[in-house]
Amino acid sequence: MSTNPARQSAIASIASQPRLEGTFDFRNEKIDVIYGQNVFSLEKMEKRLPKDVFKSLKSSIESGSKLDGAVADVVAAAIKDWALERGATHYAHVFYPLTGFTAEKHDTFFEPNGPGTLAQFSGKALIQAEPDASSFPNGGLRSTFEARGYTAWDVTSPAYIFDGENGSTLCIPTAFVSWKGEALDKKTPLLRSMQAVNRAAHRVIAHFGKKAGFISASCGPEQEYFLIDSRLFHLRPDLYTCGRSLFGSKPAKGQEFEDQYFGTIPDRVLACMMETERECFKLGIPIKTRHNEVAPAQYEVAPIYESANVAHDHQMLTMTLLRRVASKHGFVCLLVEKPFAGVNGSGKHVNWSIGGPGVGNLLEPGNDPHTNAQFLAFCSAVIRAVDLHQGLLRASVASAGNDHRLGANEAPPAIISIYLGDMLNEVIEQVKASGAASSSRKGGTMTLGVDTLPVLPKDAGDRNRTSPFAFTGNKFEFRAVGSAFSVAGPLTVLNTIMADSLDMLADELDVEMKSTKDFNVALQKVLKAILTKHGRIVFNGNGYSEEWHKEAEKRGLKNLRTTPEALPEIVSKAAVELFERQKVLSKDELHSREEIYTHSYVLTVKTESKLTSEIARTLLLPAAFKYATELSAVADSKSGKKLRSEILALADQLSDAIDALDKERAVESDTHSNAKHACAKVLPAMLKVRAAADALEEIVADEYWPLPSYQELLFLR
Ligand code: ADP
Ligand code: MG
Repeated sequence: MSTNPARQSAIASIASQPRLEGTFDFRNEKIDVIYGQNVFSLEKMEKRLPKDVFKSLKSSIESGSKLDGAVADVVAAAIKDWALERGATHYAHVFYPLTGFTAEKHDTFFEPNGPGTLAQFSGKALIQAEPDASSFPNGGLRSTFEARGYTAWDVTSPAYIFDGENGSTLCIPTAFVSWKGEALDKKTPLLRSMQAVNRAAHRVIAHFGKKAGFISASCGPEQEYFLIDSRLFHLRPDLYTCGRSLFGSKPAKGQEFEDQYFGTIPDRVLACMMETERECFKLGIPIKTRHNEVAPAQYEVAPIYESANVAHDHQMLTMTLLRRVASKHGFVCLLVEKPFAGVNGSGKHVNWSIGGPGVGNLLEPGNDPHTNAQFLAFCSAVIRAVDLHQGLLRASVASAGNDHRLGANEAPPAIISIYLGDMLNEVIEQVKASGAASSSRKGGTMTLGVDTLPVLPKDAGDRNRTSPFAFTGNKFEFRAVGSAFSVAGPLTVLNTIMADSLDMLADELDVEMKSTKDFNVALQKVLKAILTKHGRIVFNGNGYSEEWHKEAEKRGLKNLRTTPEALPEIVSKAAVELFERQKVLSKDELHSREEIYTHSYVLTVKTESKLTSEIARTLLLPAAFKYATELSAVADSKSGKKLRSEILALADQLSDAIDALDKERAVESDTHSNAKHACAKVLPAMLKVRAAADALEEIVADEYWPLPSYQELLFLR
C-alpha cells in the first residue's frame, strides 16, 4: 500500500469521476426571464409603490440624497410583500467592513402572534440596523465598550433576494458607521467620493456651457480566479488556510506552451461558470465575458460596467457566488493574488470612467473639436490626479497577497504610471507644446476648440499590458488591483483624486477667465500648464524593463515595492488634506484604515509563516526521513547511497531553514515594526524553507510526498 493513501485516492477519484449532469439548461431557462428576478428593481418599485412614494425614492436613488422617513414605511411594506411572494423568510443588512469581505446579520420576518406568526418589516428595519459591531476592525475609532455600529440602507443599490440551499433571504445593501458617524466600512467613503466627483465635474462642465444629471463614476471590474479540484485542495493545508500554496516545486508543464489563454473551456469548468452566471443574472449582475486565462486552471469573468457603487456591490456578490457555485461543482475558487509560484497570478482590472445624463462618458474622445477639448480637459485632470497621488493609488492596492504579484514580470510594476497609447500621447505632447492659441496644427501644436483629435483606437491599452494605469479608448483601466480586493478602496481613491483635480481645474479656469474672455485660450493655457508639470507620469514603454525602473527614478516617481512601504501614504499630509477637503474621509478615519490594513498585513504573514514552519516540520521533513530510512536498505548500492546522502543534506538544509524562520517569527513589537520585520525578515526566511522543501519534493519518491503537486493541482479536473 502507498504511504500516502489520501493523495492517491484523491487522484483516483478525479480520474474516475462520472460526467457531470447539468442541473439546468440555458436553452430552456431563458436568460431574459431570470435576469433580475431576485432584484427589487426600479420597475418593480414603480409597479408596487404609490406614485409619489416612487417619485421620492427614485430621486433619492438617482442623486444619492437622503430618503424621506415617511416614505420608508411604505417602501418597506412593498419590499416585504415582494420578498414573501418569492419565498424569503429572513432579511439581512449587508455591509462591507474593513476586512474587505461582506458581512451580514439575518433576522426573520416572522414574529409570534397568538397561535401563529406574523410577518413584520418596518421602515425602520429597512433603513437602519444595529449589529453588534465590537468584533469588526475599527483601528482605534471605537473602544469595545462603545461598540455601537449602525448599518444604513444605501438606496442607490437595490435590495435583492439571495437564494440559499434551504431558503431565501432579502438582502439590503447598507453603509456601516460608528455611532459618531465615522465610516467603519468600504461603502461609505465610496459613496462620499461619488458625491465629490459629481460636484467637481459639474463645475468643469459648466465652463463648457453644459448641464448634466448626476455625474457618476463607472466601474467594470474584470475578475481573474483559479478553479482547483476540492479533493486535492483539502490535502493542502496551505491552500485551505491561506488560499495560496507555500510549497510546490515547478511543474514540468507550466504555462509556457501558452495553450491555455483563451483556450477551449473544459466541460466541468464551463458548467460551473454557467451556473455562476445564472446566479449572477438572477441578481441583475450583468456578466458579459468568460474565458480561460494565462495560467493553467485560471479563468476570468467580467461584467458590463455600472455605476461604481452598484458595480462594487455586484463585484462582492460575484466573488461570493464564484466561491459558492464552485463548491457545488467540486471545485474551490481561489481568489488570492498569487496562489502558485511560477505561474501567473490573478488581478482585478478596474475599468473606470465618469459620466452622466446630458454629457455622456466624459472620457470619450468624441469627434468634434468642442467635445475633444472637453475630453482633453478631463483626461488632463486624470493625469494630474494620478501624478499628484501616485503613492495613494499604490497604497490602495497594497496587501500581503498583491505584493507577490506587483513587481514580478507578470503584473504591472509597483511604480504607478499612465499609458496613453501613441496617438493620444502625440495629442497630449502637442497640447503641451502649444503656446498661443493661434499657433497652427501644422506647426506640430494643437489648438483646443479648433482641432479635431485623430480617431483613437479603442483597444489602445491592449498593446501594453505592462502599465498599471492604461487609457483604453474611453476609460482608464487600473490594472494593479489584486484579485481578492474589494474595488471600493481603489475606486474611492480614483474618485477623490479626480474630484480634487477637477476642482483645481475649475479654479484655474475661473482665474484665467477673468483675464481673457476667450474660453479656448484659457483652457489651452491651463491644460498646457498641467501637462507640463505632470506629464512625467505618462509612460508608454515596457513597464517590466529595468530601464523603466531607472527612468522612473530619474523622473522622481515613487517606487513603493511592498505593502509596509505603501500603506503610510494613506496618512501622508497630502492624503489627509485631500480626503478632508473632498469630505471623503477624516484624518481619524484615515488613520484607522492605515492601522487596520497594516495589522492585516502582519496577521497574514504571521499565519503563513507559522504554517510554513508547521508543514515543513510535521509533513515534509518526516517524508524525507521516511524515504531516507527506506533507502538505507539499498545503501550498499552507489545510487542508493548517493540519493540517501542528497536527501539527508537537503533535510538538514530544511531543518536549519525552519529554525531560522522560527527565530524571525518570534520577534514581536508594535504593529508598524512588525510589518517591516515581516516584510524584511520573515518572508525571505519562508522562501528559504520553501526552497529546501521544493528541492526535496523533486527527489523524494512520489509516494512519500504528502502534498498534491503543482502538476496535480493545476492540471487535474
Ligand atoms: P479587456 O480584457 O480587453 O480589458 P474586457 O471586455 O474584458 O476588455 O473588459 C473591459 C471592461 O471595461 C468591461 O467590464 C467593460 O464593461 C468595462 N468598461 C467599458 N466601458 C467602461 C466605462 N465607460 N466605465 C467603466 N468601465 C467600462
Ligand atoms: Mg482589461
